[in-house]
Amino acid sequence: MATLTEPRTSTATAADLDYDAIIIGAGISGLYQLYRLRELGLRVLVLEAGTGVGGTWYWNRYPGARFDSESYSYAYSFSKELLDEWNWNEHFAPQPETLRYLNHVADRFDLRRDIKFRSRVGGAYYQDATRSWDVTLEDGARFRSRYLITAIGVLSAPVMPRIEGVESFAGQAFHTARWPHEPVSFEGKRVAVIGTGATGVQTIQEVAKTAGHLTVFQRTPNWCTPLHNRKITPEEMAEIRAGYPEMFKRCQETFACFLHTPDPRGTFEVTPEEREAFFERLYASPGFGIWQGNFKDILVNREANALISDFVARKIRQRVKDQSVADKLIPKDHGFGTRRVPMETHYYEVYNQPNVKLVDIKETPIERVTPSGIKTSDREYEFDIIIYATGFDAITGAFDRIDIRGADGIRLKDKWHGGPRTYLGVMVEDFPNMLMLMGPHTALGNIPRSIEYNVDWVTGLIRYASGHGITRVAATPAGVASWTDHVKACGVGLLSNEINSWMTGINSNIEGKQTRIIARYSGSAPAYRARCDEVAANGYRELALD
Ligand SMILES: Cc1cc2nc3c(=O)[nH]c(=O)nc-3n(C[C@H](O)[C@H](O)[C@H](O)COP(=O)(O)OP(=O)(O)OC[C@H]3O[C@@H](n4cnc5c(N)ncnc54)[C@H](O)[C@@H]3O)c2cc1C
Repeated sequence: MATLTEPRTSTATAADLDYDAIIIGAGISGLYQLYRLRELGLRVLVLEAGTGVGGTWYWNRYPGARFDSESYSYAYSFSKELLDEWNWNEHFAPQPETLRYLNHVADRFDLRRDIKFRSRVGGAYYQDATRSWDVTLEDGARFRSRYLITAIGVLSAPVMPRIEGVESFAGQAFHTARWPHEPVSFEGKRVAVIGTGATGVQTIQEVAKTAGHLTVFQRTPNWCTPLHNRKITPEEMAEIRAGYPEMFKRCQETFACFLHTPDPRGTFEVTPEEREAFFERLYASPGFGIWQGNFKDILVNREANALISDFVARKIRQRVKDQSVADKLIPKDHGFGTRRVPMETHYYEVYNQPNVKLVDIKETPIERVTPSGIKTSDREYEFDIIIYATGFDAITGAFDRIDIRGADGIRLKDKWHGGPRTYLGVMVEDFPNMLMLMGPHTALGNIPRSIEYNVDWVTGLIRYASGHGITRVAATPAGVASWTDHVKACGVGLLSNEINSWMTGINSNIEGKQTRIIARYSGSAPAYRARCDEVAANGYRELALD
């Protein structure tokens, strides 16, 4: 292994390559990709920044972290033995359970021996002379490989708020996605949580149970709906297990790979009484049903969206005693479901507790963090602990944090200036032999279902290339233009694309992320798979292979 800090032209021949494939990231994507490429008999190395496997579930150890997908619908489906031996304890598993599961997967398939932990990739440089990638770690270690596979996550690059004085705070401070491995006690402490997205909501409802006092700093309220989590009894688990083939088949058929899929009726095709009863039923049912299984037009028809928004607003008013607080918790700048819906458990009731205060930072902005707490425009607050639930530089963030350069030294970051351009969300023009798992423009939804498909497709492509003596796999300009146009067309008419959110590439905490872009594919997962299947069935003719 040589060391290198600067990119340089490689003089190595293909035979000198260290690996056939380097995978960056040991989350759900990276682990499964390693498993599949080993089956092809390839030499594979996984480089992972963390000290263990699990990705999202390794890093996000904040109190209350758990699934919004049903645990069993989220799990890997590729191994019957794995399905047979693993028991889920809760319908929406908490983070420790999921992390245990992913460690079990790593052990069961003996994956760790090809994973290098504490290895943050700082740069990846394509070398056309050898049709390979030079991958360098931040400590300067360098590896050469035919393929570079990014499995770096859509929500894996944490972001701190742009507030003055963050470093000056003398108490304990944590970002939710960099939570310590040791337990943190809130008992009797004065705690601040900044942020009320999906993570903030999970954190707040948990911390409020024990904190001496909790102050929530909210900029944008979200439409949160009940998760209705429960334990899974052994009898239920046996039933779930018996139903796996049918359940995974259903996930393949639904729009976003969830167990829920839109109701075929339009909001105005039923009577007001039927509509109200349907909304009530969804509100009382577990998981994303109210978002993903609602009337088919709530995310595209403004009037329909206004009705479900009004329904959820009424629920918030009923659940929060102080109506001035309820009013602050009701979103005014976006309709229900047009941003990621946080799932909650007694979240709104938290604001009825005497030890919890909501601060609307649109009314009284945070001016700075001080050594003893937080100063807003109207007063100073003292804290023992500040929790930053300020989320991620989503979808493209993890790419932007690596110096990735393709043919002729072109930077990926420059290539994507103004928004990502991809082929099937898997490849980028001028970046040969780079394959992205869950890259921009792939189907998201219930993510592991898309990951398994993505990995299998990439594996099929590599198998084809190996079998045909192909050493350079590239997207064509026409292929990229056509897919990028298709992704844009899929987003037309969606109310969510008129809203500032991580799904439209907006992040007020990041310089240069103030213009909306189309970063995700918003067509259906079955349509995505059909398109990718077609490309494979046609012998990858749409790619430049040689
Ligand atoms: C709190 C939270 C809850 C979620 N809940 C759900 C849910 O209920 N349902 C759902 O479908 N999805 C959920 N998600 C989305 C979740 O990210 C995906 O489901 C899934 O875990 C993604 O797996 P992945 O392997 O693609 O990426 P990740 O799990 O993000 O793993 C990426 C890995 O790449 C590593 N990495 C990144 N950059 C580098 C680098 N430069 N060098 C080395 N290593 C690097 C990271 O350390 C990380 O381990 C949730 C996300 C969060 C944050």
